[in-house]
Amino acid sequence: MPSAYHPLTEEEAVQYVRSKLPGFFPSDAQLFSREIGDGNLNLVFRVVDASTGRSLILKQALPYARVVGESWPLTLDRARIESEALKVQGKLAPGLVPRVYHSDEDLALTVMEDCSDHIILRKGLIARKRYPRLAEHMAEFLARTLFFTSDLYLSPEEKKARVRRFINPEMCKITEDLVFSHPYYDADTNSFNPLIREDVEAVWKDGDLRREVAKLKESFMTCGQALIHGDLHTGSVMVTEQDTKVIDPEFAYYGPMGFDVGAFLANLFLSYASHEGQTADSEERAAYRQWLLRTAEDVWNGFLERFCRLWDEHVKDEMWSAPGYRDAYILRLLQDSAGFAGCKMMRRVIGLAPVADLETIEPPEVRAVAERQALRIGAQLVLRRGEMRCIGDITELVRREG
Ligand code: ADP
Ligand code: MG
Ligand code: MG
Ligand code: MG
Repeated sequence: MPSAYHPLTEEEAVQYVRSKLPGFFPSDAQLFSREIGDGNLNLVFRVVDASTGRSLILKQALPYARVVGESWPLTLDRARIESEALKVQGKLAPGLVPRVYHSDEDLALTVMEDCSDHIILRKGLIARKRYPRLAEHMAEFLARTLFFTSDLYLSPEEKKARVRRFINPEMCKITEDLVFSHPYYDADTNSFNPLIREDVEAVWKDGDLRREVAKLKESFMTCGQALIHGDLHTGSVMVTEQDTKVIDPEFAYYGPMGFDVGAFLANLFLSYASHEGQTADSEERAAYRQWLLRTAEDVWNGFLERFCRLWDEHVKDEMWSAPGYRDAYILRLLQDSAGFAGCKMMRRVIGLAPVADLETIEPPEVRAVAERQALRIGAQLVLRRGEMRCIGDITELVRREG
């Protein structure tokens, strides 16, 4: 740990901002600071000038995982990764991530744009809110950040230099354990609704499923396709009706593109399953579910259109231009996305770190129905990913199993 490092207090966050960003607030401004982090790992301070309303966010990594406590040490280097990833993403997808004002490797912090006029997408989805521009924004974010950081666009030398800057072994290990390993055997970290024990044990005994998850795990560990966000669930997206901001890329590394696409789709499908229990009125539930699946389709189709356009405009390599290669690449990406989405769904039901969509359903008997749906959809996405030819095949599977 760098010797300068210590976790800031609310008061120190104000002093820090005054000294490092002297022009941001008037020097005589009365600043208020509050720690608002609801995440699992970090401190998040919001600093506000009461008289003008001008504000910023200071996010600082802790040297351990906040959810678990000091017994689970965690690298501070993730703050550097997050800052660098936000800058890369901000260049490639302007306006779709918070602007970075300042970063500090020693204190493991990033000072950034305050998006508090937005809400966390997961909360919006639980409340059955609709976001008409969400799909196009996510399609844009995914297509541009993934394409421009891949070998499709960068020279092999530049690409490998970037891979080196985004080696993120400790954060990857969390995903390797919590997404791709622990949910598939009786691991200590698992925690699930006791009412679905039989369904969970069926997962642990399903050799076909475990073999397919193992393949996806290997792909996560070895496929350095693009700079991916690495944690693109609906708690990492903030929204208003008209605007979208992707936050929290501390898991970023060079990995398979389908892991980001799949993470976002998985969280729409988890919301789909959760409304089994969240929404009693069957007409309202059906209508909202239709919006969720439509959004999933629009994300993929918008992504596809943009990705193909970027490919046709920028891909110069003789081999990447081989006949049929673009379409084969995209089909593989669709199938990877389905498989990763399936893993991301199952881990939220069986493993550590549940999602509020499911967790807030009462009573547990009703929650169990939604959780079983999520498990079924997840398992089928993993097992049948090779049969998927278009996004409609995926949403059809969700409808059938849900
Ligand atoms: P963690 O890595 O600990 O999950 P996040 O980056 O997800 O931390 O931030 C935790 C919470 O802090 C978010 O859910 C959101 O409520 C708030 N937050 C984070 N960044 C911003 C921001 N730029 N603007 C407004 N709120 C933010
Ligand atoms: Mg977060
Ligand atoms: Mg759980
Ligand atoms: Mg995080």
